[in-house]
Amino acid sequence: MSQQYEHVRVAVIGSGFGGLGAAVRLRREGITDFVVLERAESVGGTWRDNSYPGCACDVPSHLYSFSFAPNPDWPRTFSGQEHIRAYLEHVTDTFGIRPHIRFGHDVLTMRWNTDELHWEIETSRGAFTADVVVSATGPLSDPKMPEIPGLDGFPGKVFHSARWDHDYDLRGKRVAMIGTGASAIQIVPSIQPLVAKLTLFQRTPPWVMPRMDRAISAGERWLHRRLPLTGTARRGLLWGIRELQVSAFTKRPDQLGLIESLAKANMAKSIKDPALRAKLTPSYRIGCKRILLSGDYYPALARPNVDVVASGLAEVRGSTVVSAGGDEAEVDAIVFGTGFHVTDLPIADRVVGADGITLAEAWKDGMESLRGATAAGFPNWMTIIGPNTGLGNSSMILMIESQLNYMADYLRQLDVLGGRVALAARPSAVHAWNRRVQDRMKRTVWNTGGCTSWYLDASGRNTTLWPGTTGEFRRQTRTVDLAEYEVIRAPRVRDAAADAGSTGAVAAAVGEEGA
Ligand SMILES: Cc1cc2nc3c(=O)[nH]c(=O)nc-3n(C[C@H](O)[C@H](O)[C@H](O)COP(=O)(O)OP(=O)(O)OC[C@H]3O[C@@H](n4cnc5c(N)ncnc54)[C@H](O)[C@@H]3O)c2cc1C
Repeated sequence: MSQQYEHVRVAVIGSGFGGLGAAVRLRREGITDFVVLERAESVGGTWRDNSYPGCACDVPSHLYSFSFAPNPDWPRTFSGQEHIRAYLEHVTDTFGIRPHIRFGHDVLTMRWNTDELHWEIETSRGAFTADVVVSATGPLSDPKMPEIPGLDGFPGKVFHSARWDHDYDLRGKRVAMIGTGASAIQIVPSIQPLVAKLTLFQRTPPWVMPRMDRAISAGERWLHRRLPLTGTARRGLLWGIRELQVSAFTKRPDQLGLIESLAKANMAKSIKDPALRAKLTPSYRIGCKRILLSGDYYPALARPNVDVVASGLAEVRGSTVVSAGGDEAEVDAIVFGTGFHVTDLPIADRVVGADGITLAEAWKDGMESLRGATAAGFPNWMTIIGPNTGLGNSSMILMIESQLNYMADYLRQLDVLGGRVALAARPSAVHAWNRRVQDRMKRTVWNTGGCTSWYLDASGRNTTLWPGTTGEFRRQTRTVDLAEYEVIRAPRVRDAAADAGSTGAVAAAVGEEGA
């Protein structure tokens, strides 16, 4: 082995909510022998990379934050990107995480070494070995750019919403916005007043409900600072309301008709032109795609400098953008709000497991994991926000914190087993978990609502969302059930056990393997 490896007990990949949460939890569990490998030069993940005009959370801030780090000073009910980013910087310092972070470390490969029972991790700036990898690279961190014929020859400016070019002045420009997802509906009203002309390419219209955004008053903030219980109660209320909504999404999509009426009324308030209203009215059940929240999207679309083209971008000819329906517009800039690689996670190509295949190969028929965390063939490797842990209507931080409980118990179990040991998810347990998840998925609005969405993979399977409440997920991930894992010992230890006639701790561990 010519390369110098630095050994750690745990390598966390990524420093967004997931990676930082994992780091805080590790320290709270008394584990300090860990690094956080981050390809960028600062923390924040989503909230560092998405700095487009109007970027904000669409789950109220008091719920979209860590339960262990309440922030009484959120300025708005739905705070903006810069405040969420500052919050994550603050968490990093408050919990002493910064010394663990290695910025500028792009993880290139992670390879399981079966003899040594550890991961060999190559990064752009050095190599590590780790007993356990916690991958928190984010489901929405690698922007997706569609392949559009002629785009290379476009003479103007092109960028993705997650890589906003702040040096480019949009004032007075003719801009094509591609996509009408969660980012686009925040961008459109923010740039509409600045640009000469905005042409919005809409493949499928979203359902949009009003966003009850307002400044949080000084009095409320004072109260949350003085009486932290009031902040906890506020969070609890926000959480409870969303838990009550879940069954309509997962079991009784027919109940969502009433919400559709409210969304239609919301649109009618701002869009008076019947032709435009027809273009903007979805033909699928509300909730099938993420319900978007905005108070200024429809009013912006009604402005005279905005054109809505009811089909996707098909081609670029010089400086002319051409839709699939044949509409044309000459533009100076194209902004892609086309989402992320969600069901084809780039990190999956970089992980090589016990059988010598990558996670991407293991997942070629769709992502599958045990309790959203571990995958068959990839011992001691777990992911935060893994398959089927996403939410349609509530805060991802709730799911992240449940996964951190699972991570903490996983590490405890390794300690209890003692020695050089790894846990490998049993394929039967992984399949059983996924069968249950997919069975429940059949009734959900995401699968039955008549839309295609980024929740579904290329074969139409929903491998991203959790078909239950966040409370249920919390219960399902409170502890690691060792019966779902094979306990693996290093060969040297196994040989010693054989020589000694399988006694003591080794025998106990071998006994566990049959559990
Ligand atoms: C615009 C936008 C708005 C959103 N709003 C909400 C919301 O309101 N409510 C909600 O619940 N969720 C929202 N989300 C989802 C959001 O992504 C999650 O809530 C959460 O921030 C994800 O955290 P994470 O740590 O898992 O991933 P990320 O925040 O994406 O962090 C992943 C980190 O991993 C790093 N990384 C990736 N690959 C490598 C590598 N190979 N080597 C080293 N480092 C690597 C990245 O640089 C990044 O820092 C939003 C997402 C977007 C894009």
